[in-house]
Amino acid sequence: MFDATKCSGYGRCAEICPSVFEIDEFGYAKVLGDGTVPAADETKATQAVAECPEKAISLVA
Ligand code: SF4
Repeated sequence: MFDATKCSGYGRCAEICPSVFEIDEFGYAKVLGDGTVPAADETKATQAVAECPEKAISLVA
C-alpha cells in the first residue's frame, strides 16, 4: 500500500524498486500499474518499504 499523504518525495523507493515505483512530475512517488510486485522483485520491494523514511509504503499479502 502507498499513503501519498506521508510521502515526502525522497525517491528511495523508485531507486530501489523501479518496477513498482516511479517519481511523478512533482517529485513524489507513485505506484506503477496496480502495485503488484513481480515475484523476482520481492526482495527489492521489501527493501524499499524498509528504507522509506516516512513509512509511506507497505506490502500487502
Ligand atoms: S521512499 Fe517513501 S517518502 Fe520517499 S518517495 Fe518513496 S514513498 Fe515517498
